[in-house]
Amino acid sequence: MLRWLTGRDARDREFEQALAALDARVWPPLLARHAFLRGLDAQETETLRRHTAWILANKAFHGAHGLRVTPDMRHSIAVQAALPILGLDTSLYRGWTQIVVYPGGFLVRRTETDEAGVVHEYEQETSGESWEGGPIILSWEDARAGMDAQANVVIHEFAHKLDQRDGGADGMPGLRAHRSLDPRRWREVLDLVFDDFNDWVDDIEARIPSDVDPESDAAAPWYAELPLDPYAAQDPAEFFAVSSESFFIEPWAMATAWPDWYQLLAQYYRQDPLRRLEAADSQHPDRCFPNGTPRHG
Ligand SMILES: [Zn+2]
Repeated sequence: MLRWLTGRDARDREFEQALAALDARVWPPLLARHAFLRGLDAQETETLRRHTAWILANKAFHGAHGLRVTPDMRHSIAVQAALPILGLDTSLYRGWTQIVVYPGGFLVRRTETDEAGVVHEYEQETSGESWEGGPIILSWEDARAGMDAQANVVIHEFAHKLDQRDGGADGMPGLRAHRSLDPRRWREVLDLVFDDFNDWVDDIEARIPSDVDPESDAAAPWYAELPLDPYAAQDPAEFFAVSSESFFIEPWAMATAWPDWYQLLAQYYRQDPLRRLEAADSQHPDRCFPNGTPRHG
């Protein structure tokens, strides 16, 4: 049982130490600080604790730009990363070890070839990166904000890791352990909703008045009608990663716009956050979580 939970060659001693550190003093406040973890039952909570300990034992955290990564930061990143694999196997996060944490947004070098074949190199500020076979890089400022926000950079980057398994980042994670999920159906539904979303974004951009910069906060009211952050229109891999954020944090708008896509994600992740979050919120009607208001930026 333990072997299965920790992965075949997990470092058992480190795992047991990490598990022991998530004790009654640390674990309940850690859960409470992350609003999207509400509604888990006792068994799910214990599995989440074990998966969190597995991540802590098997990943090496490094601070960049002078950041000292405290146990509190490691715990927060690990518990956020553990949620997507709550119904899956920790082995899906194997094959790489480093998590690099910057204090805030960081610059990455991008290259782009334009239609004339000219290669442009430029630097872009970002809050997270996931390198195929390599590290996950996170901005702590954004990872911390994910405790109670509509966007979640940790879930986003770890979703990329799931997508990168079995054939590269293409919006379809490895489905070999999911006999009931047909890869052709996944591709079919993904293509449909991705095209639909791109049309939706084009329609909104056509309606934004010319004196409003579409990249600025002033354009947020137009994008607010979208079920996902407009960044999801980038490519199918980003669509899957942004969908995964919404799926776990605020699934209402996405599940209403594309019920088939929500169902596929629920079958893949083996979780139903819509039901879980609604059940939790119905027990605490005083808590207010805004539905369907995507982040912007
Ligand atoms: Zn991404």
